[in-house]
Amino acid sequence: MEFIDLKAQYKHLKPRIDKRIQVVLEHGKYIMGPEVQELEDKLAEYVGVKHAITCANGTDALQLAMMVFNVKEGDAVFCPTFTFFATAEAPAFFGATPVFVDSDRKTFNICPIDLEKRIEETLSDGKLTPKAIVAVDLFGLPANYPELERIAKKYGLKLIEDAAQGFGGSIDGKKAGSFGDIATTSFFPAKPLGCYGDGGAIFTNNDDLAELARSYRVHGKGTDKYDNIRIGMNSRLDTIQAAILLEKLAEFPKELINRNKAAANYEEVLKEKYNTPKVPKGYVSSWAQYTILSEKRDSVMAEYKKKGIPTVIYYGKCMHQQTAFNCSSSKKISLPIAENLANQVFSLPMHGYLSASQLASILG
Ligand SMILES: *Cc1c(COP(=O)(O)O)cnc(C)c1O
Repeated sequence: MEFIDLKAQYKHLKPRIDKRIQVVLEHGKYIMGPEVQELEDKLAEYVGVKHAITCANGTDALQLAMMVFNVKEGDAVFCPTFTFFATAEAPAFFGATPVFVDSDRKTFNICPIDLEKRIEETLSDGKLTPKAIVAVDLFGLPANYPELERIAKKYGLKLIEDAAQGFGGSIDGKKAGSFGDIATTSFFPAKPLGCYGDGGAIFTNNDDLAELARSYRVHGKGTDKYDNIRIGMNSRLDTIQAAILLEKLAEFPKELINRNKAAANYEEVLKEKYNTPKVPKGYVSSWAQYTILSEKRDSVMAEYKKKGIPTVIYYGKCMHQQTAFNCSSSKKISLPIAENLANQVFSLPMHGYLSASQLASILG
């Protein structure tokens, strides 16, 4: 059994994907070909925002967001400590200081109460300028944006949604990728919407931010391609990846239903034995991962392995425990809920093509 069965998905979509790739090979516009614009239009429509700007990967998408907001040395950027490294790496890459925030016990997402505490602490310390919040839709569940938007407004901070795992999720029908000032996502193959290589995107309703992101994406270009008006990067999505994503996006709503069915199946059986993930009322998860908690994680994972069922730990180490970030911060911080998650979480197979018999063997 595969943890994320990308081959089953390809088998299902093969005629459509092969045809799309063939079209690109024949028209030859391998960079910024027509499929890129078509995908950006369809992504914007799906997410319900004015602008979708594709780029080379989800990490670049975060870096482009930092560039758009001129995040720099002396700035504090608040992010969850329980996340993938790139969330905190992006602000640190520009010399800013990531300030780590504890998790919500039930949703595993950034805890708004602890966030406010960290902002107040940073303000009273007076060393850093609070600049932005990067919230993560961890394992597919949107973060608590109603609260996060209130906090961002109260302290005059930019709010960035890292929807690398969240694409397809929603709160009261409002889709992941549409929260905050800017949102980012990743099309890494294993993400809810993945391509066959690296890919990413930025979403925003703000025309000025969109124009800046489009410029930074291609060497800081101005209106004339050969007049560069700022220092940017080279972060385009390949036309072939856009072509693949167009077919995957068309199928995505069906896959999302299947993922939610599988999660409901897991919940029904596993809630008796484990601490299972809770989806608040009005929220929809895209189930990038189905993650549960156990105090006896090692032995439980060994049991699954014996049955031929792959499990993976996301994440065994918080950001404030990472060597790269430990060196830069002089004082030891304790974020107990996130640390506990890092000690107990593990994830079960999750994708849009889990069959009833596979689910039965996992739960049997
Ligand atoms: C995967 C991921 C990223 C980075 O995406 P890449 O496309 O691999 O660069 C950023 N943030 C989160 C939360 C992720 O899961």
